[in-house]
Amino acid sequence: MSPFRFSRRIARLTEEALDLLFPPRCAGCGRPGGAWCPACAAAARPLMPPVCSLCGIPWPRGGRCPLCEAHPLQLDGVRSCYAYGGPIRRALHRLKFHGRYRLAQTMAAWMAEGWNRFALEADLLVPVPISRTRQRQRGYNQAAMLARALAENVAIPFYPQALHRVWSTPSQVGLDRNARRENVRGAFVADPRWVRGKRVVVVDDVCTSGATLEACAAALYQAGAVSVWGFTLARVILNHEGGSRWS
Ligand SMILES: [Zn+2]
Ligand SMILES: [Zn+2]
Repeated sequence: MSPFRFSRRIARLTEEALDLLFPPRCAGCGRPGGAWCPACAAAARPLMPPVCSLCGIPWPRGGRCPLCEAHPLQLDGVRSCYAYGGPIRRALHRLKFHGRYRLAQTMAAWMAEGWNRFALEADLLVPVPISRTRQRQRGYNQAAMLARALAENVAIPFYPQALHRVWSTPSQVGLDRNARRENVRGAFVADPRWVRGKRVVVVDDVCTSGATLEACAAALYQAGAVSVWGFTLARVILNHEGGSRWS
């Protein structure tokens, strides 16, 4: 057994032992009793087809949404499982700041449902990488936690080594799509040994403008990937896209 697998098994056994001491809490509201309580499950808003064929926002007419018609995202497509907000926002916040293995497992199961709903296919999954400095500070990358657990669920190889972040980008908060694109341009580099000739899906926790996924895709195409999709647990849906429910 590789040291990596061994340490994962230890993590799982530790969580199982902790389950006995501390019963599971809801990913959304934190109440004890189960991993996802009925109230949070009812309040979450899954994204269902029909969606924009490119960016994945709800789009009843089929084909591309108006934003993608005008400014197409520079990758094969993006699909997201839930609208960002409510219990999904709170669950992602917990994962980002506490990095719990069990929480990642719960959320990856939701992502596996989305994966099947949108009939995605891939030869390998890669997470959106964080910088080494941030990884050292935080001890984990929440996108990698989701991607690893999802890879097990959908039986597709997980290759975090295929994509690296070459520099840390300033916060994207408050920037529009073009500014976000500039902000992350050239921030990633991909390793052709892993991706040449492959269909790659890049996994992240949230998609806002798609700029980070586009920058990942640019590096992956350059390294010879034949297709690159983005796949995220949540998607920020703007008001004019019918997403005012939580804003
Ligand atoms: Zn709950
Ligand atoms: Zn679109």
